[in-house]
Amino acid sequence: MHSDPAQFSLTAPATLEAVLSQMAAEPGLHTPIAGGTELMVAFNTGRLQQRSLVSIQHLSELRFIQVEEDAIHIGAGTTFTEIRGHAVIASDLPLLVQSASWTGTVANQNRATLGGNICNASPAADTPPALLAYGASLTLINASGRRTIPYDAFHLGYKRTALLPGELLYSVSVPRAFAGYRQWIRKVGTRNALAISKVALAGLVKVEGGLMADVRLGAASLADRPVRCSAAEAALVGRSVLPEALEETVRAGRAALAGEARPIDDIRSTARYRSSVAENLLEEFLRSL
Ligand SMILES: Cc1cc2nc3c(=O)[nH]c(=O)nc-3n(C[C@H](O)[C@H](O)[C@H](O)COP(=O)(O)OP(=O)(O)OC[C@H]3O[C@@H](n4cnc5c(N)ncnc54)[C@H](O)[C@@H]3O)c2cc1C
Repeated sequence: MHSDPAQFSLTAPATLEAVLSQMAAEPGLHTPIAGGTELMVAFNTGRLQQRSLVSIQHLSELRFIQVEEDAIHIGAGTTFTEIRGHAVIASDLPLLVQSASWTGTVANQNRATLGGNICNASPAADTPPALLAYGASLTLINASGRRTIPYDAFHLGYKRTALLPGELLYSVSVPRAFAGYRQWIRKVGTRNALAISKVALAGLVKVEGGLMADVRLGAASLADRPVRCSAAEAALVGRSVLPEALEETVRAGRAALAGEARPIDDIRSTARYRSSVAENLLEEFLRSL
């Protein structure tokens, strides 16, 4: 059933400051809308509960990519198309570019924002596994100031985040620290294009002398929120990727991942399928090393 537009309001204050003041004046009342590729689907199907929308799509303050020596800062309003087209992001953060290229269609990517993908807080969203593996941090902003938190502290549960009423995601910062790492990502869905993932895994491994010196794994749909797979990471650090030890390494990684996985069970897949596919993905990554 379609929503009745007369029951909704949409305002578009000209500046970020004006948006934040409006949100601060009536905390929790106004819902930000960026590309609208999540919210308008909910509107169209009559599921949109929030009645007062405040547009942030036109705000140039949220739409930037700033490259510094040790980090890349991406404004929350940056679109997937802009991320895919950026040369430094492509060279430093290939997992982010790959996941952006999986999100919907090209038309969708022209509107959809990185901030919307994160704040929508779906456990199946495409960019969180890569951002978790990269150890991203998020800067949140409200009318009184900004705070920066590690991304792995942002998702609190199913569709629950650390955002406070009146607060927006301002930017995503990713360290430029992975030049020597093997970077790997894979999404499993019902088909190759235009599919929400059943499960996805992003991995970064630094190999030194045949041993894994650092392991970073981010996953989608392995819990009620996007998660870092810290038990599997801990089980793999220090292990060998050389042929004579690989079977034991794979066994240890699979067992640790199975132990920590708490997959969602929904219309797209069962928890059991997700768990065993995630183990297969980890094995595929480890064998590729
Ligand atoms: C056809 C289609 C295919 C899709 N395929 C995929 C897919 O393959 N993978 C995938 O991950 N997603 C997919 N999506 C979902 C969607 O496109 C993405 O999640 C997108 O990144 C959402 O961004 P947006 O700017 O459009 O968000 P919006 O719809 O504008 O907002 C989404 C949520 O985030 C909040 N929000 C947005 N920006 C901010 C901010 N700066 N601060 C605080 N809150 C904010 C909004 O209030 C809302 O709750 C698809 C959608 C469609 C319609």
